[in-house]
Amino acid sequence: MPITAEPLSDGFGRIHRDLRISVTDRCNFRCSYCMPAEGLDWLPRADVLSYEEITRIARICVERFDFDGIRLTGGEPTIRANLPVLIEQLSALGVDLALTTNGTTLRTGAEALVAAGLTRINISCDSLRPERFATITRRDELAKVLDGIDAALEAGLAPIKLNVVAMRGVNEDELVEFAEFGRTKGIVVRFIEFMPLDAQGKWTNEQVLTQDEIITTIRAVFPLEPVAARGNAPAERWKYLDGGGEIGVIASVTHAFCESCDRVRLTADGMLRHCLFATRELDLRSMLRSGASDDDITAAIRAEVGAKWAGHQINQVHFIRPARSMSQIGG
Ligand code: SAM
Ligand code: SF4
Repeated sequence: MPITAEPLSDGFGRIHRDLRISVTDRCNFRCSYCMPAEGLDWLPRADVLSYEEITRIARICVERFDFDGIRLTGGEPTIRANLPVLIEQLSALGVDLALTTNGTTLRTGAEALVAAGLTRINISCDSLRPERFATITRRDELAKVLDGIDAALEAGLAPIKLNVVAMRGVNEDELVEFAEFGRTKGIVVRFIEFMPLDAQGKWTNEQVLTQDEIITTIRAVFPLEPVAARGNAPAERWKYLDGGGEIGVIASVTHAFCESCDRVRLTADGMLRHCLFATRELDLRSMLRSGASDDDITAAIRAEVGAKWAGHQINQVHFIRPARSMSQIGG
């Protein structure tokens, strides 16, 4: 009998159609807002889902819940061996397939990712100044990342989005430089408000450069107008009045978008999270490895997402930081 998809709805009527998959918790960078300088233990290899296991969960989400988008992330997804093999398997599901990466491997790897079926890419870079970049990431590799951006453009991955975590006292003086960079390269710069997901737990509200500050600063140099309704996308968008492209801001802290969230996350060790900030997880790895049927997994995911909360409540007294940090969850 053919399988009929039924939307994955939660208790607030939000329909989920987007799956974020972390393919590894490992990373070749150590960004200060994400990981500690040293000492975050990697997951044991046996705990990390195989590509077949990941593809099975993704297929269930597409077949049973009509998911239409998958994004691969990490850790640094491109350092997992044979990533194009996974991309090929997922691309056969016929959904929009995107990747978030720090860009370091793209000079050698972008073409293979595209050949395997990758359609969109987000590259992260928080400073265009080599010394500052090295301080933030704890790696002196800005040149490699910039070359990786060019490699992605050459491989035909357009439009590229450039993720910039905007932090007070760190890179607030580069907002306009980033805007210029995006306009020149034809890429969409997306500023992300700093979220309390750093492994060291040093986040404070004062370090958050807000959406309002970011837009005011850029608008003073390049006039902007808002782009209409963002739907389920996390970024609010503005376009340059002179036709120079657009920018976005992901304002998870000051303009939370939980009411339109359509995302669920799968961690590298096979835990389903209904929110980036969730304090509970569904252990799909145990189900996968103990002979659970597609029906069993479908029912478990439906129950987990059914229990999704209204929102993360950063800055409220009820807010509890998740036990895992960004690189361990998958941003
Ligand atoms: N390693 C890849 C990368 O950096 O693009 C993918 C994983 S990384 C966790 C995904 C995104 O999360 C990156 O754009 C990164 O800048 C962002 N990120 C990490 N920690 C963050 C934090 N505490 N607040 C806001 N964004 C953060
Ligand atoms: Fe690695 Fe990405 Fe985290 Fe930086 S933000 S440490 S590149 S996972």
